[in-house]
Amino acid sequence: MNHSPSPRDELRLLANHLRAYLEALGVWGVEHIPTAPPPVARSTGTGVAQTLRPAEPSPAHLATECSPVQSAVSPEVQEMLLPSQPTSNPLATLSLPELEAVAKSCIACRLHQGRAHVVFGMGNPHAELMFVGEAPGRDEDLHGEPFVGRAGQLLTRIIEAMGMKRQDVYIANVIKCRPPNNRNPEADEIARCEPYLIRQIALVQPRLIVALGTFGAQTLLKTKLPISQLRGRFHTYQGVKLMPTFHPAFLLRNPERKRAVWEDMQMVQRELRQAST
Ligand code: URA
Repeated sequence: MNHSPSPRDELRLLANHLRAYLEALGVWGVEHIPTAPPPVARSTGTGVAQTLRPAEPSPAHLATECSPVQSAVSPEVQEMLLPSQPTSNPLATLSLPELEAVAKSCIACRLHQGRAHVVFGMGNPHAELMFVGEAPGRDEDLHGEPFVGRAGQLLTRIIEAMGMKRQDVYIANVIKCRPPNNRNPEADEIARCEPYLIRQIALVQPRLIVALGTFGAQTLLKTKLPISQLRGRFHTYQGVKLMPTFHPAFLLRNPERKRAVWEDMQMVQRELRQAST
């Protein structure tokens, strides 16, 4: 059987990618896209708007090298691209593969500059259980997969101790690109990356979310409380039960906290069992 998409389906997919990309650029403050060789980034610039615009542009320079976002394509394609209703999350109409494709070309924050791979997330797209970590580290950046380093191996053991396999669950991070030297993600990086996670959760529709560590928990729950105060009880994210627990990397440094994580995971197991009876 031939499963290759028809040219029309391919065009529709391409149009969806482009629409989401252009809308995302708009939401992130980009009004023009370059149509000539890319300008050199200004050393003081940090956001996508600075890197996409030519340094010190004159009006004539702007007119020849940048086009308004909506006139960068032909009128026929523009018609396909223009949404009839503006959406608040520019990614809200995308499927998981489309979202991944958009994420893989994302330049919405400074972290794209140093990445080897975008670490989008992976696992069962219909998983009952979703783990949300912080950001890729070195190993994840090299492989393009979440939680494959030492902390990831510990997470795999935790999942297996819960009677599941890694491929049964869905694993994602708040931040999709590695922060330099594994520094903490900054507030603007979280804000620009969060729409991907929001859409991932909406698409996977997990029964339960486990937030690993401070950033996952604080981002999803919109709180500043430390993980030590958040863990050990269920919270709610968009109607989905959410259990915050210590990050596996923290457990590697503080193995005496493994018991607390195991207690949290037992509560998760009980909840999943109850939900399926
Ligand atoms: N730590 C995280 O939070 N995520 C990863 O993918 C790896 C390490």
